[in-house]
Amino acid sequence: MANTQTPIEIARQTLKNLALSKVPPTPDNFRRAYEEISGIKSEDPVQVLIRLLKEAGRGRPKFAKLSTQLQQASSASNLADIEALLRQLLPSGKDGEPGHWGELLRDLIRELEISRPGMSISKKKDGLERLLTNFGADVNVLEEKILALVASWKSGGKAAEPLVEESEPVAAAAAQPTTTGAPLPSSSLAGQWRDLLVKTLEFGLLSQLKYLPELARNAQQLLEQAKAAATDKQVTKLAEDFKAFWYKLEMNSDAQFRLHEELLQVMRLLVDNMSELVVDDQWLRGQTQMLREIIEKPLDIEVLYDAESSLKELIFKQGKLKHGLIEARETLKQMAASFVERLAEMTENTGEFHDKIGGYQQRLSKTEDIAELNVILDSIMQDTRAMQLDALRARDHLQASQKEVRDAEQRIEQLTTELMQLSEVAHQDFLTGTLNRRGMEEAFMREFSRAERASQPISIALLDVDHFKKLNDSLGHDAGDVALIHLAKVVKSTLRPTDVLARYGGEEFVIILPQTDQDGAIAIMSRVQRELTKNFFLHNNQKVLITFSAGVAERQGQEQPEDVIKRADLALYEAKHAGRNRVIGAAA
Ligand code: GH3
Ligand code: MG
Ligand code: MG
Repeated sequence: MANTQTPIEIARQTLKNLALSKVPPTPDNFRRAYEEISGIKSEDPVQVLIRLLKEAGRGRPKFAKLSTQLQQASSASNLADIEALLRQLLPSGKDGEPGHWGELLRDLIRELEISRPGMSISKKKDGLERLLTNFGADVNVLEEKILALVASWKSGGKAAEPLVEESEPVAAAAAQPTTTGAPLPSSSLAGQWRDLLVKTLEFGLLSQLKYLPELARNAQQLLEQAKAAATDKQVTKLAEDFKAFWYKLEMNSDAQFRLHEELLQVMRLLVDNMSELVVDDQWLRGQTQMLREIIEKPLDIEVLYDAESSLKELIFKQGKLKHGLIEARETLKQMAASFVERLAEMTENTGEFHDKIGGYQQRLSKTEDIAELNVILDSIMQDTRAMQLDALRARDHLQASQKEVRDAEQRIEQLTTELMQLSEVAHQDFLTGTLNRRGMEEAFMREFSRAERASQPISIALLDVDHFKKLNDSLGHDAGDVALIHLAKVVKSTLRPTDVLARYGGEEFVIILPQTDQDGAIAIMSRVQRELTKNFFLHNNQKVLITFSAGVAERQGQEQPEDVIKRADLALYEAKHAGRNRVIGAAA
């Protein structure tokens, strides 16, 4: 809960608490105690830097190492090490030693108790109160301000508090540290922070953003802003902008990371199974075409998911096909072998038959004995029948073999057709170009196991267009189709790159939302609703408002996709009954 005290009261209370509990008043301890009292949690700037360095450290071992060392130093609250490490990022030799809080506070207390001419203790207290009012909430500038104040006391108030503007109203000043318009010295904490940011942007981050033009532009603007930041106010604004930029970068780099991971997976599949793929066959054409398109277009996670799963299926089917081909070839070979055998037998037999017939002919021509003639004719009859039987057997065998070959051919043809279809649109929905159910199932498996590995929440949303039948009836089925395409487009453009959109059937869609709990998912779907009311569907230049209802469910434990969908469906049902055009979260 946020504290209702003013920042000056909180800062005073913080110093008091530190003194009472005998905790050294280091910046970290001051921040922790301040946050505890105020109830406001600020992000540790060192953590922001560590993240930034980690990002910049991909492919740059120096930064990666530095981010690890900084993390260790930060975990051990070792300020000296943090400082030494940060100094490695600054141009060497330029800056003086920054002050030490312990010494500074001791100095402050000592000076506070000394009454000097023209600078009474109560006047000093007033000055300190004013300073705490203005800068107590900002540890980054506090040290510098206290230093300046103590220096002004020591000099009898001549250089008195030039950094504190008295005209600022107390509350506003506390919310937004004031500025003097004077350039920030590099030795001040804010100045160091600014210099560090300039260096990190200039030498680390910008080079990493080559392929992300929008972020690169933002980073460039930030760099110019950082270089020009000459006052506390500007540095404070810079910190805010930097934080916003950081979130954007984080979101994007996560998406980029997934894209790379997925692209690698597709490539791995392709390489590992190269020998499985019958390279110069037309079934592969669709596949290579698809892969080429993927590489040429900006990467899209759904297209990659789709590519991966259809490639897997292609490999599986081609494996089957190869098997079928080998079987068919075996059959043909066997058939040919036995045919040749038969043929040889037949030729042998017919040769023998011819020989015999020749012999019989001779015997026939020579004989005059009827009895012998009968014997010869009998023999001829027998031999002819034997030869006929042989021929019949050969024909039967031939016919059987031919049937086997035809069957094998048919199997191959069927597999080929399947492969060709698969090559084209295996996992995509024809109408909307989103994933179809098969693609969705694969995405579920992948995203659920990824969420498990990373111990992150994951949610799904089930979306159903409101009164779609009416739209079809009034504008026609074709217009209904175009409306669905429009809806899918708006939904996709509103979602984050890591979210997955699939057509569940008819006018129902499933959205997988990684790294999102139920409340987050409700917020995202509500945003999609708002976008849809802004982006009208145009039919014959008429604006047509499409609305949808959605049920949202966060995955519980090891829940199966179908169970999460079931809960989301119940919530969707509720949304419909509550009057449509709304998003409802599922019961656990
Ligand atoms: P509600 O969901 O708000 O209760 O009302 P509804 O009118 O949308 O009701 P229901 O979900 O039962 O109807 C869905 C309609 O969507 C029925 C079907 O004709 C239509 N539909 C399903 N698939 C398509 C498609 O691909 N194209 C078109 N044009 N219409 C489709
Ligand atoms: Mg429906
Ligand atoms: Mg409907």
